[in-house]
Amino acid sequence: MRHQPRTPIYLDFQATTPVDERVLSAMLPYFSTNYGNPASREHLYGREAHLTVESAREKIGSAIGAKPQDICFTSGATESINLAIKGLFFNNYEKDQHYITVLTEHRAVLDSFRMIESDGAKVTYLPVDNQGMIDPQQIAAAIRPETIMASVMAANNEIGVIQPIKEIGAVCRTHNILFMTDATQAFGKIKLNVQEMNIDLLTCSAHKIYGPKGIGALYCRRSMPRVQLRPIISGGGHERGLRSGTLNVPGIIGFARAAEIAVKGMNAEQTRILKLRNMLHEILNKSIPDIRLNGHSERRLAGNLNLTIPGIESEALIIALNETVAVSSGSACTTAAIEPSHVLRALGLSDTEIHSSIRIAIGRPTTKEEIEIAGKSIIAETKRLQELCLNTGGVN
Ligand SMILES: *Cc1c(COP(=O)(O)O)cnc(C)c1O
Repeated sequence: MRHQPRTPIYLDFQATTPVDERVLSAMLPYFSTNYGNPASREHLYGREAHLTVESAREKIGSAIGAKPQDICFTSGATESINLAIKGLFFNNYEKDQHYITVLTEHRAVLDSFRMIESDGAKVTYLPVDNQGMIDPQQIAAAIRPETIMASVMAANNEIGVIQPIKEIGAVCRTHNILFMTDATQAFGKIKLNVQEMNIDLLTCSAHKIYGPKGIGALYCRRSMPRVQLRPIISGGGHERGLRSGTLNVPGIIGFARAAEIAVKGMNAEQTRILKLRNMLHEILNKSIPDIRLNGHSERRLAGNLNLTIPGIESEALIIALNETVAVSSGSACTTAAIEPSHVLRALGLSDTEIHSSIRIAIGRPTTKEEIEIAGKSIIAETKRLQELCLNTGGVN
């Protein structure tokens, strides 16, 4: 995929990604030529659509070692997360229920747990260490007789930290509780296997892997153990009754093609991206003293750099960079809410440090040249802002 170079240089691939041209061309026929409804199987249009969707389901499943019938298509990871957490809670409504999760989870996970808490569930929010890591033993220690499920994200959207998913899955299986992972950032970037990792529920989304927006999936294990969810969206009984509504056929085709491309090129691409990240980190380290990396230095996604730059306000830096580089002050959702990042807070950063932090996310279209230009711009604007600060008496 070689896009036309565009300015500002986009370094926010954890918020979203452009649709890969191969994905787009796979999708196009399903808008106006093969427009059948996969539920209308009495004629050829419907049957064709049905077959294509089922082959896409197989591709998504095989990306995580899952059976196709355990894949449920949704409108994205937010919906998948809501369906998993609320669906499980409402399916067990009569019981005393306890859940375990982590303070650094995505808002969709935390807010879904808050919702079921207000309906009577008990939820334990585990802390992380100052690198953003969770120890599987913390999960073991938090399990109670009434614990239903533990939810731990595979890779973090702000700091890129990769949790020990296999070890956590083993702990959950040993203690007979379900294990859910929000794999939206990890899917297509690191190896995931629901069998080897004992994952019972997994969420992912196409637009984080060069697929279209508005399509995602929930992996929901249907045997050993059988996970039962109460649906949130009722209607025609699509997706085995788990999620009604006419399927987004072009989206599903695009999602499957995007997953295929990501998994096939995973090792080479992650190696390339890691090189670019190390290069940018070095460039910045050399010219900006006291720069600090947030999150574990090795156990993180190849493309993620979350940096605290003392003496600058990240909002001011991002505005100063507006014409040259597009970076983020954290997760897109947090930015909309203008709240300091709950992830960086969980790492023990002060408010001042949080407000001096930026997230850089390198992606598939990123080139070495772009990294060099971005590095120069970030250094120049940082120095300018730091001097401005010194002359006016500093931040806060
Ligand atoms: C982007 C993201 C989500 C939300 O996904 P959508 O498909 O945009 O709803 C959930 N969790 C993580 C970790 C994410 O990065």
